[in-house]
Amino acid sequence: MNEQGTIFDQILAGKIPADVVYEDDFVLAFKDINPQAPIHVLFIPKVRIKTHNDIDEANMEYVNKIHLAINQYAKQIGEDKNGYRIVMNCNENGQQTVNHIHMHFLAGRQMEWPPG
Ligand code: C5P
Repeated sequence: MNEQGTIFDQILAGKIPADVVYEDDFVLAFKDINPQAPIHVLFIPKVRIKTHNDIDEANMEYVNKIHLAINQYAKQIGEDKNGYRIVMNCNENGQQTVNHIHMHFLAGRQMEWPPG
């Protein structure tokens, strides 16, 4: 990981493959390579926003679009009524490992609360 970009920039550029399940002008969503639930998809903005702390008025449309994309995808796969969990990890204590914000979409099983 460096300041030039992350592995998600390479996925956005088509330089490394991803199992894409949703795309629009603002958002790309693909299956997590290390799934933590039967359905585990990452929704990322098509601009680099490093962490949740870096969301601002100028880029928040991308975040809004992520939420709309999640609603559309959940309905499309029939998990909107069953329910799901969306998570965005931030920095070290949040266990963020890729510095390009991503919303984890987890579904297909009963979630636990509180999380570990
Ligand atoms: O929130 P955090 O930064 O820890 O999540 C990063 C996620 O990106 C992990 O769940 C990891 O499995 C996923 N990943 C991926 N494809 C890659 C690299 C990481 O799905 N090429």
